[in-house]
Amino acid sequence: LVADDGTVRATVFAEMSTLAVRTGSINLGQGFPDVDGPAHVAEAAVAAIRAGHNQYPPGAGVPALLEAVAAHQERRYGIRLDPTTQVLVTAGATEGLAAAVLALADPGDEVVTIEPAYDSYPAAIAMAGAVHRGVPLVRTPGGFRLDLDALAATVGPRTRLIVLNTPHNPTGAVLDRTELEAVARVAHEHDVVVVTDEVYEHLTFDGVEHVPIATLPGMAERTLTVSSAGKTLSFTGWKIGWVSGPAHLVQAVRAVKQYLTYVSGGPFQHAVAAALADDDGRTRAWLDELVGSLSHRRDLLCAGLEAAGFTVTVPAGTYFVVADARPLGVEDGVDLCRRLPEVGVVGVPVSAFCRRGSRAADDLAASVRFTFVKREDVLRDAVGRLAGLR
Ligand code: PMP
Ligand code: GLN
Repeated sequence: LVADDGTVRATVFAEMSTLAVRTGSINLGQGFPDVDGPAHVAEAAVAAIRAGHNQYPPGAGVPALLEAVAAHQERRYGIRLDPTTQVLVTAGATEGLAAAVLALADPGDEVVTIEPAYDSYPAAIAMAGAVHRGVPLVRTPGGFRLDLDALAATVGPRTRLIVLNTPHNPTGAVLDRTELEAVARVAHEHDVVVVTDEVYEHLTFDGVEHVPIATLPGMAERTLTVSSAGKTLSFTGWKIGWVSGPAHLVQAVRAVKQYLTYVSGGPFQHAVAAALADDDGRTRAWLDELVGSLSHRRDLLCAGLEAAGFTVTVPAGTYFVVADARPLGVEDGVDLCRRLPEVGVVGVPVSAFCRRGSRAADDLAASVRFTFVKREDVLRDAVGRLAGLR
């Protein structure tokens, strides 16, 4: 986390966004929307400030939000939760994930992630003093799929936690039932807790269904589910996330969380509560429109990347696509990302999501992640610029 000269290393997303600003490039690196979330939800935040919700909210979160999360999990997935003991509000999914790892993994324990892995997981594992092991996703003609043999070989007696992520950043893979059942099997076999990052739960395309692993037989009692308003509502700056699962695990996460941030985002918690509670009404309509337009923007960017000479694995979810630059004669994605600003675009090398020397790092050495959560005119401009790579 700290470089040799004592400076704090910037995350790959911060580094690439700085590069985009410095070079005046289109930023398809860091994943954040360039259009705001629903106006009625923003108004609800303003109303909450005016109504005086400006002091510390309760430690576990505002009751209306705890209830809205529980109702959402039941309505969407049939998962029943007691909002008073089985839900915890966190400062984004990032804090929920970090607090879960810190609460449940002791120094020397092994924590298994899918690889490539979102960059905050290895950091949280390192902060816990635990050992990071990875199970690669493998590129197939039908998308990235979990290597089930590697999964069985990696999860063992020293494994304390499996950190899952579906829909998956950066590959856009949505884990299917076969993959989730394989994870559930090893979790049972080795008595392991699963922490599942489902921040992209509502962003799936072509009718692909997101299946929460907590809905599999026997998994509710060993799964902590993490999600957030950032992706669902396009308010990434609000940093309202939540963790849900069995009461004893949620209490353990809460014990750590209270000393990380204690609480955060009071007025935003009220606004997100109103938005989630309206999941059948305006929020659902807004989300349906977002998903429709994202799938169109995905197609636009994928076609543009193919035309520019990349090989693209079309994502079933999230707002990212992984493009393989080997057909362009590229071997090193990091190198390519440093050169991309020459044509006026920024992306993120997929190797930044992999442990050095891992199989995934090797397989994906020449791959770059691009986001399509940008306006259509911006994407068209980016695609035009990328054509200059040939
Ligand atoms: N998990 C994944 C897979 C992500 O892509 C992100 C980034 N949005 C996060 C967690 C962090 O979410 P939040 O902003 O709610 O902390
Ligand atoms: N989750 C976003 C991404 O993957 C970025 C979040 C961040 O900058 N930490 O691009």
